[in-house]
Amino acid sequence: MNDILLLKQGEIVLKGLNRRIFEQRLMGNLRRRLARIGRFKVYSAQSTIYVEPEEDGADMDAAFEAAQKIFGFVKINRAAACEKDKDAIVALADRYLGEELAAAKSFKVETKRSDKSFPMTSIQLSQYVGGELSDRYPQVPVDVHDPDLTIHIEIRDLAAYVHASPVKGAGGMPVGSNGTAVTLLSGGIDSPVSSWMIARRGVRLIPVHFFSFPYTSQQAKEKVVELGRILAEYCGKMTLEVVPFTHIQEEIRDKCPEEYFTLVMRRFMMRIARRIALDNGAGAIVTGENLGQVASQTMEAMAATQAVLDLPVLQPLVGMDKEEIVSLARKIGTFDTSILPYEDCCTVFTPKHPRTRPKPEEVEAAESALDVEALVEEALQGIERIVVRDEQEL
Ligand code: ATP
Ligand code: MG
Repeated sequence: MNDILLLKQGEIVLKGLNRRIFEQRLMGNLRRRLARIGRFKVYSAQSTIYVEPEEDGADMDAAFEAAQKIFGFVKINRAAACEKDKDAIVALADRYLGEELAAAKSFKVETKRSDKSFPMTSIQLSQYVGGELSDRYPQVPVDVHDPDLTIHIEIRDLAAYVHASPVKGAGGMPVGSNGTAVTLLSGGIDSPVSSWMIARRGVRLIPVHFFSFPYTSQQAKEKVVELGRILAEYCGKMTLEVVPFTHIQEEIRDKCPEEYFTLVMRRFMMRIARRIALDNGAGAIVTGENLGQVASQTMEAMAATQAVLDLPVLQPLVGMDKEEIVSLARKIGTFDTSILPYEDCCTVFTPKHPRTRPKPEEVEAAESALDVEALVEEALQGIERIVVRDEQEL
């Protein structure tokens, strides 16, 4: 059977003249992902992208799964194709969806006809196919208002297609169409979600993790690598930058007043992230901060943290409730890894009474005993780069 995927583009359809470029990028992202699964032909026609297997045994289940994680598609149909003939369409609908139809409580047929030269109107074809299928499955009533199963027919330029209801795509815009950002990736629940949300807006990500070995363990790093791998299923291949953070944290512990530990540490994270951004042409820094969640996430603390930056900080979770963040983490598949119980550097040397409403000049005074420039330089020199890719990519 001629099994194919029909992928419907989302927002990029609205982009006027840029549309071709967006579409090329989207197809490139899709092709790269599918290349790891098998040989597929990917082409576009009439705002739809088609995926057809080009070899026997190309794994359409895997392709269908992978397509659901590519930003830029709103709907994904797994369909079968046939010639544009009403009886061929009936035969195909029966073969392809007969089992589902036999199990359905009711059904209807819905036709979309973008090839206007087809001799029947959409309504006529729906009625014809519906009637033929009713004869073959008399126990399943037609219900045009609230059917259990909808059989979709599309009459397009190249062929006729039959499919059941589409599944939702990942939405958003193709990765790479909206610039690059550095994303701060801890092992927690929040930052994989904030990374995913910004990637979904078409942003290519450079994940950065601050690692305080031996205060944080090797497993903590592996957990972040695993989170990066899960994100790569959506974003494509990325390079995770693991920044050695131990010396900075020890210096802070030894030379700064305790109530400012977290704030000073966060300013170092920002300075290092900024340098990585500038070195890689990235235009923003992404964090999983959430207003009021912890002492370092008050407005004053965020202001003191961001005072060392000249880049925007994108905080897509800032106004969300924890419950919403958790449900998104579950949906994208990062939650179970995030809750593995390994320490993050943020929980090393945490002050008993952190400052929640710091004044910028107080924080500056608190870090005045440190050689900030030298510490940042040293951390940058020690970066370990780990390529993370989707499991399917070898
Ligand atoms: P998360 O669940 O993402 O760890 P959180 O609610 O625990 O977030 P914090 O620990 O205060 O919040 O960290 C705020 C943000 O700072 C994180 O969302 C993340 O973007 C960044 N961050 C924290 N720790 C690290 C780290 N070790 N490496 C990289 N980024 C980090
Ligand atoms: Mg954390």
